[in-house]
Amino acid sequence: MKLGKPTTPTLMFHGIHSRYIAEPSYTERERFYAIREDHAIEIFGRIADDGWGVTTFASEIDASAKTVCLTFDDAHLSHYVSALPILIDFNMNAIFFITVGEVGQRGKLSWSQVKALSDSGMSIQSHSVSHRPLDRLDDAALTRELIDSKMILEDATGREVSMLSLPGGRGDARVLRQANAAGYRRVLGSGRGRTYASAPLPELGRYAVKSTAPLAGCLRYLNATPLSRAQERIQSVATAAAKDLLGENLYESLKRISSRPVARPTVSNSS
Ligand SMILES: [Zn+2]
Repeated sequence: MKLGKPTTPTLMFHGIHSRYIAEPSYTERERFYAIREDHAIEIFGRIADDGWGVTTFASEIDASAKTVCLTFDDAHLSHYVSALPILIDFNMNAIFFITVGEVGQRGKLSWSQVKALSDSGMSIQSHSVSHRPLDRLDDAALTRELIDSKMILEDATGREVSMLSLPGGRGDARVLRQANAAGYRRVLGSGRGRTYASAPLPELGRYAVKSTAPLAGCLRYLNATPLSRAQERIQSVATAAAKDLLGENLYESLKRISSRPVARPTVSNSS
C-alpha cells in the first residue's frame, strides 16, 4: 500500500442539525460528525468568498484549478431539509452518497427526496446497500453491495452511478478491484487516500468535517501546504492501522473521549 497522489480536496459532511427537524435521531457517533446549520452556511460561504470552484466530477476538471468537492454521506433527512437549500443559495453542487438500505428509515431520506436532490442538479452516488464494512464481506456479498446499490440508485434517479464512498472508510485492494469491475470509476475513503499496487483504482482521500470547530478544520485542510498534506496522508495511514489494531468501535470511542473539552474546576469567587 502506498500513499495516493494529491487530488482535488474533498470535504465529507454527515448530518446537519436542522431547525426544521424537531427530533433528530442521531446515534452518538453520528452526533460527533453532525454540524449546526449555521456552521454549514459559514463553511460554504467561506468557500465561495475564498474563490474556490466546486466540482462533482461530472466532467474532467483542470487539476491546477482551485477546486473543492463537497460530499454528504449516510442519506440523512437533513441533507434534503437543510443542505439542499443552502447549496442552492450558494449555487453549489455536491455529491450525496446514499446507503440504499437506509432510505425511508427514521431520520433518513425518502426515495422522492433522493430523486428531488438529483433533479436539483446534485450528484447521487453509492454508499453501499447495508453500510457493512466492505473489506469484511466475502466476494459474493461484496459484489451484491456494489452492484445492487448502483442499479437501485440508477433506477431511482435515471442517472449513471460511477462513484462509491466506502462505509466506515474501510476498503482494501480487493474492494477496489471489485468496485472497478462493477463499473465504479472513483472510490472515496475517509482518510487522506492511498493506492495499492494490485488495484486499478486509488482510494481517494477526504476530510471528515466534525462537530468540533468545523470551519477551522475545513480551512486548515483546504489551505494546507503540499508538505502538510503529505504529513496528514501519512497520519491517515497510521489511523487506518490503529483502526485495524483496536477495532472500529473501540477506535471511535477513544477518539470521542480524546476530543471532549476538558472540564475546568469551578473556582469560587471570594470577593
Ligand atoms: Zn457512512
